Amino acid sequence: MSIQDIVNNLVSLQTIDLSMDELNKLLENCLDEINLQEMASKTRLQQLQDTRKNLEDLNKKRKTLEIEVGALDTKISKYQNQLYDVKSNKEYDALKLEIASGKDEKAKLEENLLTLLFQEDDLKSAIQHMTVEVESLKKENLKKQDEIKKKMSDLEKNLDEKKTDRTKIIQLLPTNYSDEYENMKKSGKKIVIAPILENNMCGGCFISVPPQMVIEIQADDKLCRCSCGRYLYWKR
Ligand SMILES: [Zn+2]
Repeated sequence: MSIQDIVNNLVSLQTIDLSMDELNKLLENCLDEINLQEMASKTRLQQLQDTRKNLEDLNKKRKTLEIEVGALDTKISKYQNQLYDVKSNKEYDALKLEIASGKDEKAKLEENLLTLLFQEDDLKSAIQHMTVEVESLKKENLKKQDEIKKKMSDLEKNLDEKKTDRTKIIQLLPTNYSDEYENMKKSGKKIVIAPILENNMCGGCFISVPPQMVIEIQADDKLCRCSCGRYLYWKR
């Protein structure tokens, strides 16, 4: 295989790898998007459940209050009945006082009851609103997820094709070059074969390439490497 062919194959391999990186990034973004959606749905559902629980608590509180009001009613009417049987003014006044304070207490409880009822109404309409919202969010998410999954399967198909192309090039290249390419990639270099840029700079590390080396590279005499380790090529 000529130096020119080796360079061309290494450049193609790198182009494939860079687009595979891009595809993998897009796949990750899709997964992130799905996760974000699920989290948003869960949060909304949790809020709905919390509001339902609040409503239940209010309901219990109200029932307790209603029982207390009922007990006060019984007490007040008992005292009112006793008024007919009293023997002294003192006893009468005492009962009257008890009845008045019972009525005061009842009025306060009834005021609290009313506040609770209003709060319950607010929660009920909030729950109604949230239920509709959760349902439509669920539908919307399912639709979006279908779209994302379709996009993901396209990306995966594209990745598979690139993998096949990659294997073909690796098999074509002399082993020492393909091995060296893989080693440099493993060491974290995204650019393994760098073009010589303007002012004879290495396109990987941006250090100047010696003029003699540039001449050799332009002549396709041999595959040269920059001091950063990357292969160098002349972009035609
Ligand atoms: Zn370099």
